[in-house]
Amino acid sequence: MTRETDGLLIVGEALCQELMDRPAAFDAVQSVFAAMASGEARNFPVIREALGHADALYGFKSGFDRAGLTLGLKSGGYWPGNMAKGLTNHQSTVFLFDPDTGQLSALVGGNYLTALRTAASSAVSIAHLARKDAKVLGMIGAGHQSTFQLRAAAEQRRFEKVVALNRNPERLNRLATVAAELGLEFEAVTPEGLGAEADVIITIVSAYEPLLMQEWIKPGTHIACMGTDTKGKQEVDPALVAAATVFTDEIAQSVSIGEAQHAVIAGLIGADQITPLGEVINGTHPGRRSDEEITLFDGTGVGLQDLAVASAAAKLAEAAGKATRVTL
Ligand code: NAD
Repeated sequence: MTRETDGLLIVGEALCQELMDRPAAFDAVQSVFAAMASGEARNFPVIREALGHADALYGFKSGFDRAGLTLGLKSGGYWPGNMAKGLTNHQSTVFLFDPDTGQLSALVGGNYLTALRTAASSAVSIAHLARKDAKVLGMIGAGHQSTFQLRAAAEQRRFEKVVALNRNPERLNRLATVAAELGLEFEAVTPEGLGAEADVIITIVSAYEPLLMQEWIKPGTHIACMGTDTKGKQEVDPALVAAATVFTDEIAQSVSIGEAQHAVIAGLIGADQITPLGEVINGTHPGRRSDEEITLFDGTGVGLQDLAVASAAAKLAEAAGKATRVTL
């Protein structure tokens, strides 16, 4: 005799936006980084393919977290023509499965959660690696992710000011608006000016060349490189990566598709000089060792982050009695 399933929980984009907040995303991402570092959670190989249709890139990121009992995948990609249709170019959905039975347990909208988990990732790095007295936050990039990054980072230290730059300076208005909302002074600056002032820097652009050079950075700065998630992309000087103590979400991705790829190709650093941020969270690595040390977090984005926030959203939706349940 077969047992009835508990049913499939459906948590759409609107519900994710209503119920998931930054602290919940921070906790979910911090826990899964810790589980990855202790060997309890692992990401499976990523599939990413050009469809040859609608210029779309499509793929899956999947994994299993034995500590959080989260199994599943994020499916989605990039459809460049979506903007003209009034839709977001990046589209994704998370599928969660019961790890005891393999049954599909939840479908969760992944668009809002992707921005939330990416911002949570740099926020976790700031919480564990930035100097406690950091006052100035530097932002490079003013695209879709940037305001999520700014809001999450602002909660980690007592920042007083945001300095920012973007290829199209007119787009900095969106960051200036959020900074004002958070009660932070805001200034548009040159790259050299940003390096000279910022105590914490977040890079979140789609660039293929270094925008930040080693000689512009102050001792003691923490940098979170969040935009480089593909072979060939680049945000900072490889010499800066080599001069920093480098942390990452996952070493295999850091050296192949993350910011560290360029320093590794140039022979400036090896994979053995990169530490999973989870080790700092778990207390098996001390993290920052001095006020002068430059720390750099290479946030490449892993499937387990998506599963962690989707699982948290599904639990919140269920507890609030707001998710749709479908019997399979
Ligand atoms: P977006 O298209 O909304 O904004 C892109 C930003 O990059 C803008 O600030 C733009 O001015 C800048 N930019 C583009 N090309 C540039 C160039 N050649 N030189 C300098 N600046 C350039 O994108 P978004 O959704 O804000 O995402 C930003 C980046 O973050 C993308 O590269 C995206 O792939 C990456 N991302 C990473 C993760 C992760 O987990 N690490 C997650 C989501 C997105």
